[in-house]
Amino acid sequence: MSKKRARLTKPTAQHRDPGLEEVMTGTTVFNVPFPADLSTLKGMSPLVIRFPYSVEYLHSYGQDSPFFAGLANRKLLGTRCGPCQYTYATPRLHCPACGRETDWTELPQQGRVHTFTTCYYGSEEFLKETPFHLILVEFDGVDTLLLARLIGVSGPEEIRIEMKVKAKFRRNSQLKTTDVYFVPA
Ligand SMILES: [Zn+2]
Repeated sequence: MSKKRARLTKPTAQHRDPGLEEVMTGTTVFNVPFPADLSTLKGMSPLVIRFPYSVEYLHSYGQDSPFFAGLANRKLLGTRCGPCQYTYATPRLHCPACGRETDWTELPQQGRVHTFTTCYYGSEEFLKETPFHLILVEFDGVDTLLLARLIGVSGPEEIRIEMKVKAKFRRNSQLKTTDVYFVPA
């Protein structure tokens, strides 16, 4: 190891002086000392401030918009490729097989559980709802599956492959994929 590299290496625990862990909270300051002599300002320590920060996104659904407009109107939309005679439950704007633009089509609102999983951990948005059940729904006449939440069962032992389920929609659409969920039919 070169001398330069060695200097950049963090000191190990045994070389560091003992001390308490740093905390990220501090005292609210109302009067910041300010020198009368402005020439000393360049030697001033940097001010560090802490404040909450949030971001509001403006997000376009683009060509996927009809799917969400469908959810808001209690309709489940998929797409269909004419030449391939293939129907996608999760809409594909272009057919992955032949590349042609697909057409919107309404899906049945009843289907069957193809497979399922129970989530005991989730991302921040869904963490408070754990455990919850996710299912892949299989529809008659549709060639791909739809991922959705299954509500109305007390535990995974009540879920069965091939179990009949029906779609339900949130009364107040959030224009999110979670606007639709399934319950035992
Ligand atoms: Zn196609």
